[in-house]
Amino acid sequence: MTDTASKALASLDPSSVHVPVPVGEEPELRDDGAATCRAVEYEVAPVVDTAWDASAAEKRLQAWAGVDAENPSAEAWAKYARGFAIVRGDGNKLSEFVCPHHDIEGGKFVTNKHGVSAAIAALNGGRGGAKGVSESERKAALAHLEKHAAEWHDEKPKPMRVRLPAIDLRGIRFSDVLHCA
Ligand SMILES: [Zn+2]
Repeated sequence: MTDTASKALASLDPSSVHVPVPVGEEPELRDDGAATCRAVEYEVAPVVDTAWDASAAEKRLQAWAGVDAENPSAEAWAKYARGFAIVRGDGNKLSEFVCPHHDIEGGKFVTNKHGVSAAIAALNGGRGGAKGVSESERKAALAHLEKHAAEWHDEKPKPMRVRLPAIDLRGIRFSDVLHCA
């Protein structure tokens, strides 16, 4: 390295160095600048397995919570937040609600299985869903979503009534069974 080159390197301010992010990779999540986001508290709701359409679900949640009206109240915003995993900023703008996974079906607040999977994928780096979210809040939001997933992954199989065809074992010798395999 020439003298000039090493001098130039030494004079570089490290904070001004732009490190390009490899294509196809999400920039690393950092805690700075993302202090005003919070994970939404987990709550149990009836689980549905219907097709997930995030923007349609958001519209239904908006109408249900009352944030589609003019000057929604703080209560309306708090109600709306229940449909999401993360709220950024003050939580009084539609753009501040991240990772929807609840919906309104038949007037009832429900949890959508596919919405939960999509939100988990987003928080794990897919589709840039976790941009501007602090690592601690991302983890808290993931914990919320994984609790939902556990609701159906831990489901015990329902006891089934199976009617087995009657098999007449009379006349079958042990040696016949052995040779079957
Ligand atoms: Zn939830």
